[in-house]
Amino acid sequence: MRRPLCNCGNPVAINYIKHDKTYYRKQCDSCLRGVIKKQPRWKTSGYKKKHICDRCGYTSEYDMQFNVYHLDGNRNNCSFNNLKTVCANCQRVLHLVGMKWKQGDLVPD
Ligand SMILES: [Zn+2]
Ligand SMILES: [Zn+2]
Repeated sequence: MRRPLCNCGNPVAINYIKHDKTYYRKQCDSCLRGVIKKQPRWKTSGYKKKHICDRCGYTSEYDMQFNVYHLDGNRNNCSFNNLKTVCANCQRVLHLVGMKWKQGDLVPD
């Protein structure tokens, strides 16, 4: 049996070995210890949320009022020109009406 992967991508921790058979835990060491908090990909890619909505211009000092929007809908595509900061309102609207932005419509800053 091949060593499975934790949902964070690391190989899972070994639980115990019995009769030459290896039993695995469900998660890797780091996750089991809770060391690595799962971060969204855009964050690990270095993108930073702005405090202004790229769509409507809404500003707030509170981070949690903003979301990061992937223009092409692919959460794994974290090139900066695929990412926009949108407020919670716009997030809902965008979800409803779909994306009318195209990559490159707005200049990344
Ligand atoms: Zn893990
Ligand atoms: Zn907005």
